[in-house]
Amino acid sequence: MPAIDILKARQTQVYEKGRDHFTIECNKKSLSGAVSQRACVFCGSRVVLYPVADAVHLVHGPIGCAAYTWDIRGSLSSGPELHRLSFSTDLNEHDIIHGAEQKLERSIRELAAKYKPNAAFVYATCIVGIIGDDVDAVCRKMTKELDIPVIPVHSEGFKGTKRDGYKAACEALFKLVGTAEPEAIEPLSINIMGEFNLAGEAWMIRKYYEKMGINVVSVFTGDGRVNDIKKSHRASLNVVQCSGSMLGLAKMMKEKYGTPFIRVSFFGIEDTSNALYEVAKFFKNDKVYEKTQALVKREVGGIYPKLLEYRKELQGKKAAVYVGGAFKAFSLIQALRVIGIEVVLAGSQTGTPEDYDTLKRLCNEGTIIVDDSNPVELSRFSLEKQADLFIGGVKERPMAMKLGIGFVDHNHERKIALAGYEGMINFAREVHATVTSPVWSFYRKKAWYE
Ligand code: SF4
Repeated sequence: MPAIDILKARQTQVYEKGRDHFTIECNKKSLSGAVSQRACVFCGSRVVLYPVADAVHLVHGPIGCAAYTWDIRGSLSSGPELHRLSFSTDLNEHDIIHGAEQKLERSIRELAAKYKPNAAFVYATCIVGIIGDDVDAVCRKMTKELDIPVIPVHSEGFKGTKRDGYKAACEALFKLVGTAEPEAIEPLSINIMGEFNLAGEAWMIRKYYEKMGINVVSVFTGDGRVNDIKKSHRASLNVVQCSGSMLGLAKMMKEKYGTPFIRVSFFGIEDTSNALYEVAKFFKNDKVYEKTQALVKREVGGIYPKLLEYRKELQGKKAAVYVGGAFKAFSLIQALRVIGIEVVLAGSQTGTPEDYDTLKRLCNEGTIIVDDSNPVELSRFSLEKQADLFIGGVKERPMAMKLGIGFVDHNHERKIALAGYEGMINFAREVHATVTSPVWSFYRKKAWYE
């Protein structure tokens, strides 16, 4: 296998535990030419807002940007499915030269008449930032005319990282929060943030809390509804999963409405149980605590024997993990440990310095930690560290397959629920089937860049 050099400007974004002793650089624009796996600002906004199912999502830009459709995030809805339709103003040369504000106006008007949405999100893409359309003014005008919130999302692709897209999405959601009042205020109530209802995960998690006696006011944004978001400021607590995407909104709500927040994860038995206990502790209510204990005992008891069976066969295997948010990487490291697998490569697209400190603590000596990585680095380290399995998203799948390494999808395209207790057993089953597949005995692991 040929050695490849890490690009000079990326050397502080690649770290080996036990060998290196520097602060991992992160949260900065991708290096030109490094072929980052990270998507643009617009994609960051789109994946966060997009599960709001009764809103129109209009991409103001050329048709290519609208390739980010429902299929990039299989968020399920229990009611309207407007989010599954993809709308674009389809800008062409004429629009770019003469401006496209009128076209945007006409598009919003037409969509509102046809689909009667409860709100519209208008995404500004790269070219809109360049030609300078006044998206805010058009949205203000259409809000008045149509009597629904028409919200600009400033997600011009070039203006930062995917993380800036999360920020733009949080700012857009914050415009809705507090614009309606609930009929009654429940004292034991929460919002779940950063949960996108892939394969029905938000429904599973909501059910756990309901069994504990907690009322879920709104899920941001899985199976999301505009009216629930409007009333969400009356919840007593924000429970933030995928904190990379939603921590910004939680902070804004704390500042304006005084809503406290906690950070949790629903991946793995340990983190799921903690997520439930943390909420029970917050409410200091004996009944809630007892119900939580009973729930955790029942759920863990139901899956643990099967996990131990998988563990027997998987013990000693190695995994590479590269995901969007670092919080998911933390959970995966712990979940993989439960089934006997060691993580030898861990990284994220949008981690913060604090996230990387936690990753360093969680990982074993010799583990490579990467920020905003690329296929060549990920391939090289997966082979060097002899990973049996790669856990990532759609962009990492072909890379792993070419290397001859098993792959498990843990990103927004997946169709299998991996959150909560049920998700943990699905995850272990997926990992087991992938790692023990006989196909790997016919395939020599090799570097595709040889
Ligand atoms: S917003 Fe810009 S970077 Fe993002 S998909 Fe559109 S053109 Fe590409």
